[in-house]
Amino acid sequence: CGIVGYVGKQNTVDVVIDGLRRLEYRGYDSSGIAMVADGAIVCAKKAGKLANLESELDTMQVPEATTGIGHTRWATHGMPSDRNAHPHTSKDGSVAIIHNGIIENFAQLRTELENDGIEFASDTDTEVVAHLLGRILPAVGDLTEAMRATCERLEGAFTLLAVSKDHPDTVVGARRNSPLVVGVGENEYFMGSDVSAFIAHTKDAIELGQDQIVTITPQGVSVTNFDGTPSQGRAFQVDWDITA
Ligand code: GLU
Repeated sequence: CGIVGYVGKQNTVDVVIDGLRRLEYRGYDSSGIAMVADGAIVCAKKAGKLANLESELDTMQVPEATTGIGHTRWATHGMPSDRNAHPHTSKDGSVAIIHNGIIENFAQLRTELENDGIEFASDTDTEVVAHLLGRILPAVGDLTEAMRATCERLEGAFTLLAVSKDHPDTVVGARRNSPLVVGVGENEYFMGSDVSAFIAHTKDAIELGQDQIVTITPQGVSVTNFDGTPSQGRAFQVDWDITA
C-alpha cells in the first residue's frame, strides 16, 4: 500500500518511518522495514499500527544504517499478521523486498519454488518475488539486472523495492500498473508510492513510466525499461507545501 525507499547519509530508520507515517492516510493493516548494515539485512515487521513497528524496533539492537526500505501493507493475499507483513526475504536472508499490488501468477511460481525445496514463511503473493530474486541474483551479480530478470517472470500489478546484503548503498525499484516516484536530494535519493513519502526532504522528483526499473545509490539515479534500454523517467517539481 505505502512504499518508502532511502539511500544517503541520514539514519534510514528515521527517514523510512517518517515516510511511512506520511503515507498512513492511504490506510494499512501492517508495516515493516528492512535496512542494510554491515553486510547483512535487518528486518522488523508487525501487524497493526506503525506504533507497533516502532515498539518492536525499540526492543532491537537497530544498527546504524543509511540504506533501507519500508512498507505499509493492505492485505490482498494472506491475512494481516506479523509473518505476512512485508518485507519478505529470500531463503538465506540475502535480499529483502516490499511490494504494492498483486502478483497474478504467484500460485504457479510458488509451486515451482516449492518443488525446488523452498519453504515459504508467509501466505502472501509477494513472497515468491523474494525467492525468485534470491535465486537469480547470485547468477547475475548485478541487483538491477536481477530485478529485471525477476520481473520477466511476474504477471499482474506491482511496485517492488529490493535491497541486498551484498549491495549496501543501493535500492532497486520496479513498476508495472502501480505507481513509483523517486525523490532527488543531494547525495541522497528516495523512493515512494507517492511524493508524500519524501516531501519532507525534497521537492525534486522523477516519475517512473510503465515497465521501468530504477536504481538509486548516494551517487545518483538510473532508470531503464524492462527490456534494458535506458530511460529518463519524467522529472517534475512537487508544487505543494507541507508543514513539518
Ligand atoms: N498483495 C500483497 C499482499 O497482500 C501486497 C498488498 C499491498 O499492496 O499492500 O501482501
